[in-house]
Amino acid sequence: MALRNIRLIGDEILYKKTKPVVEMTDKLKQLIEDMFETMYHGDGVGLAASQVGILKQVVVIDVSEEANQPIILINPEIIHTEGEQDGTEACMSVPGKIGYVKRPNLVRVKALDENMEPIEVEGEELLARALIHEIEHLAGELYVDKVEGKLYDTTELKDE
Ligand SMILES: [Zn+2]
Repeated sequence: MALRNIRLIGDEILYKKTKPVVEMTDKLKQLIEDMFETMYHGDGVGLAASQVGILKQVVVIDVSEEANQPIILINPEIIHTEGEQDGTEACMSVPGKIGYVKRPNLVRVKALDENMEPIEVEGEELLARALIHEIEHLAGELYVDKVEGKLYDTTELKDE
């Protein structure tokens, strides 16, 4: 396992579309492990492969307080959303910043797991927010373009 370098806002790789994974390889398994380590190390709840410079459709998420509910999503697609939530959002590629973004309150995603088997993941509240945020990374989108009002410094506004 190894920490990967996080690409920061302004880095052109963050604005590129990622490619679907066609087969699981040892290299990709290593990437997934490293992404979890990098995410936990930075106290993040989600990370997309493009954030570590790899243009593949790979996402890792863990919104649990004990950091023991890892979710791996390969080639994820949003298939259903419901409701609405207001709240703050932050991103490991935009350190020290936080902003308000309206999101659906429930998000359902279909994807493949690390064995390339089809799975569905449904989340509400923080998990819904993480699912949408990370899947947008795969499309080359950053949350900062969806922020209502201004982007705050984390010292001005605490994450909720
Ligand atoms: Zn992000």
